[in-house]
Amino acid sequence: MRGNDHLQRHGIGMTSQRTRERLIERLYEEGLSNPHVLEVIRRTPRHLFVDEALAHRAYEDTALPIGHNQTISQPYIVGRMTELLLAAGPLDKVLEIGTGCGYQTAVLAQLVERVFTVERIQALQDRAKERLAELNLRNVVYRWGDGWEGWSALAPYNGIMVTAAAAEVPQALLDQLAIGGRLVIPVGAGDEQELLLIVREEDGFSRHVLDAVRFVPLLQGPLL
Ligand code: SAH
Repeated sequence: MRGNDHLQRHGIGMTSQRTRERLIERLYEEGLSNPHVLEVIRRTPRHLFVDEALAHRAYEDTALPIGHNQTISQPYIVGRMTELLLAAGPLDKVLEIGTGCGYQTAVLAQLVERVFTVERIQALQDRAKERLAELNLRNVVYRWGDGWEGWSALAPYNGIMVTAAAAEVPQALLDQLAIGGRLVIPVGAGDEQELLLIVREEDGFSRHVLDAVRFVPLLQGPLL
């Protein structure tokens, strides 16, 4: 398996295999319960999404820096948001805002038919694209752009996941959600935000406030 080759080459072989199993146990104990999501996290080589200098920490349940002042999300949060998105059944078209290093993208790509992912920092997205190609995840389409605008040309989406915190829910994302579609987004202006699940009904939106979370902000301004 490709992941194992990489593990050997990085010289963290068996230790990493054990720490990967421990991570899955921990996520289960913390309340993640969708077996498909847990299995995908188990087999996704998170150490390939961070700098080699941080690879030995890749299977800790913690966010880590990925450069450009951004972070790779904590595995628990990746699992939690993915479970929320998938809770009503399988999804074919998912929009992700904030590709970052591509780890959440890689998890989604193994669970839904197609992922459309938008990122404002081109260098991060280019690197993410390379990683997903190496892992042979081909059902992802990338756009360098501003997530506040979503990706209207390909709307509507059955699921939208935002991996940076918005001061308010971007109107464009509500507009681009299909009827029955689900939007998972951290909302709040400060250091701590609330994770929201918004479902588009026939006649409006239902809004569920979930966990307290900490994300880097969904930025405004020119693309980098
Ligand atoms: N999903 C990522 C987490 C990335 S952190 C992972 O699994 O690692 C949040 C990302 O959102 C950063 O890469 C940041 O550049 C991006 N971002 C912030 N504001 C954005 C915006 N307005 N449009 C698109 N991407 C944005």
